[in-house]
Amino acid sequence: MPRDVDIEGAAEYYLSQMEALLIEHHEELAAVVMEPLVQGAAGMITHPKGFLRGVRALCDRYDVLLVCDEVATGFGRTGTMFACEQEDVTPDILCLGKGLTGGYLPMAATIAVPKVYEAFLAPVESSKQFFHGHTFAGNPLAAAAALASLDLFDQEQPVLSVPTKGNYLRNRFRALNDHPHVGCVRGRGLMFGIELVQDSESKQPLDPALLLGRKICQLATDRGVWIRPLGDVIVLMPPLSINQSELAILADVVIESIEEVASGLASRSSCG
Ligand SMILES: *Cc1c(COP(=O)(O)O)cnc(C)c1O
Repeated sequence: MPRDVDIEGAAEYYLSQMEALLIEHHEELAAVVMEPLVQGAAGMITHPKGFLRGVRALCDRYDVLLVCDEVATGFGRTGTMFACEQEDVTPDILCLGKGLTGGYLPMAATIAVPKVYEAFLAPVESSKQFFHGHTFAGNPLAAAAALASLDLFDQEQPVLSVPTKGNYLRNRFRALNDHPHVGCVRGRGLMFGIELVQDSESKQPLDPALLLGRKICQLATDRGVWIRPLGDVIVLMPPLSINQSELAILADVVIESIEEVASGLASRSSCG
């Protein structure tokens, strides 16, 4: 985010850029594809409040479909069953995966609003159908795992515990606020990114050759917490069923591992 844009103005700032793109390209665009609220693989980038709803409104205004990829954010990860609910948004196409089976077996789903679905409905001889199939589509074993996982969502309501569990971690990670190599801790629900930087004042990125993220995750793994980095962003996506003592271990090990590995780094002042 540019320095002269504050958090209140951020949604408007990025929406005006999106609108400029749509004004220029809407006639050749089939859809806008986005991960709602949190862009996972991009580095756990969180969107400002109102951004998703604004993108929906722009897509409507310029008659472009909105595709929301909730493969990462879906199934309770951000604190509601789907991230789109938090901004009362219905995408035209919704992509689901990972959490559909609780991560146990590979299964994905692509869900469309009637307008999209019906565009492919026609008598068989008209060749209007969407002829697309996967080798393993409708795999019965994966479907059984998905149904069992969806039953657990009904019976145990794990999504209800996500805000409390997420807040616990957020509070624990306040201990990293003053850390010289932590740029920010961001996320929603039980989805966190801890960004490591050269120094927390300038937020300049670290030299990637230092492999700091990787070293921190390696140390955490040695201590029984299996996490992975995206470059120099430490990613935390614990299972929604994680309990309080496991959350405490997760927070302890992550904080200790960051402190230990980063303490070996020269700070900006000592390296000039
Ligand atoms: C993991 C992931 C994918 C890939 O999903 P597949 O079902 O493995 O193709 C797509 N989008 C997001 C946001 C993901 O996190």
